[in-house]
Amino acid sequence: MSRVYNFSAGPAAVPLEVLEKAQAEMLDWNGSGMSVMEMSHRGKEFISIAEKAETDVRELMNIPANYKVLFLQGGATTQFSMVPMNLLRGNDKACYVNTGAWAKKAIKEAKIHCHVQVSASSEDDNFTSIPAVESWNIDQDAAYLHYTSNETIGGVEFQTTPEVGGIDLVADMSSNILSRAVDVSKYGVIYAGGQKNMGPSGIALTIVREDLIGHAQAGSPSMMDYKNHADADSMFNTPATYSWYLMGLVFEWIKENGGVSAIEARNIRKAEKLYAAIDGSDFYANPVELASRSRMNIPFTLANSELDALFLSEAKSAGLVTLKGHRSVGGMRASIYNAMPEEGVDALISMMAEFERTKA
Ligand SMILES: *Cc1c(COP(=O)(O)O)cnc(C)c1O
Repeated sequence: MSRVYNFSAGPAAVPLEVLEKAQAEMLDWNGSGMSVMEMSHRGKEFISIAEKAETDVRELMNIPANYKVLFLQGGATTQFSMVPMNLLRGNDKACYVNTGAWAKKAIKEAKIHCHVQVSASSEDDNFTSIPAVESWNIDQDAAYLHYTSNETIGGVEFQTTPEVGGIDLVADMSSNILSRAVDVSKYGVIYAGGQKNMGPSGIALTIVREDLIGHAQAGSPSMMDYKNHADADSMFNTPATYSWYLMGLVFEWIKENGGVSAIEARNIRKAEKLYAAIDGSDFYANPVELASRSRMNIPFTLANSELDALFLSEAKSAGLVTLKGHRSVGGMRASIYNAMPEEGVDALISMMAEFERTKA
């Protein structure tokens, strides 16, 4: 068996130790005589798995007691709808910050439910920066303000939580959750799909302040109401049990690796060395403004795009895969989430240098 370094934006690499643990427990979880995917979600075995995952993520993110942690289905995209359906509370307006492809999708979905005020947009500079918070046009009477903390496609990331006054702050943290320290108490809602930094796709982690629960729009389907999920401990219907279990293993892995602060320090080192390699070369370039660069998704172009295909095939031969950039940006994209080991980034940097030396 030979494992590759997988730079996919999502579904993305999962820590090897997590996969090995899941493999070891596949046929017989903890003496139960069955795999986790065969267990009743109401049985004591699965309840213990579910509760441990919640306890661990509460500890890792230091989630205050007045927040519910929900394990929901439908990925982050379903949260694009659930947020307005639950948070409008009779209001007909919400503020959104447009920083790229994912923010745009969130905005499009919100427009089904309310008037969207775009408080700021970086579309004019092709989404290569984060608009300065001082310039945002925030209507404090809107129901909430939504932003995307890391744009997975454009490779731009908020380095701090924006200060937005008294309005409830909502963040799509799909591609940088648990990669850096965050003060949860500054948010009304934080949500993230699983497949970037927490394991498999299909599941979403949603952290909601309790007072925002119980106000779903009249006529909302039961599955879209946060209250139904909160009241049932995320077992309103049969949850995505196996994904929940894997997410729990990822949380354990982060704890074993020193928690979010240790992972963040490693993420800073990984990103800094890859950006240094790009900036130090005349052949590779990253279009993002320095202060807005993502630690998780690093797009880069080659000076001669006719060499793109050759670059990808040489990378593949070196065991470095899924580096092709998103079609809207072109070039390459290296997604280096928590699970990407530092050696994987080092291997990419050497391959890039060798390619430049021999092919450029
Ligand atoms: C991947 C991603 C999504 C969509 O996640 P799904 O699980 O496909 O719904 C939303 N927002 C961001 C920032 C993402 O990276």
